[in-house]
Amino acid sequence: MSDLRDLYQEVILDHNRRPHNFRHMEGADRVCEGFNPLCGDRLTMFVDLDGDVIRDLAFEGTGCAISRASASLMTDALKGKSLSEAEALFERFHELVTSAPDGPADIAGLGKLAVFAGVREYPARVKCATLSWHTLRAALTGTGERVSTE
Ligand code: ZN
Repeated sequence: MSDLRDLYQEVILDHNRRPHNFRHMEGADRVCEGFNPLCGDRLTMFVDLDGDVIRDLAFEGTGCAISRASASLMTDALKGKSLSEAEALFERFHELVTSAPDGPADIAGLGKLAVFAGVREYPARVKCATLSWHTLRAALTGTGERVSTE
């Protein structure tokens, strides 16, 4: 298990160093800012839609390794997905990071997002890991241009 944990940590650190889809998107269909006051993570999510399909996703901002890696892996995972697929994945991801740390991690269908299973052991970090998801959901549902995890 500790080997797996090391691997997970390595993936997170790698995505923090070289986040995917980390750029400003001109002319995005949806834009939303997210803020996690608990840690100080701040990001802006850009979404390019094609009907109900997420054609492209990008983000920019500053934050801890977990928030950046989460946004990086999330944007990779959701490109080309429909809005309902994205919502379903968000629910699966949220279940994973908020499930009991001593129970089995249900990572079915999560792909690389499974690396966040370790976050279960650090409840204060759950908001870092879910900030990008909450921000994306707010962007897609149009509940406002700003979202805070508090
Ligand atoms: Zn954070």
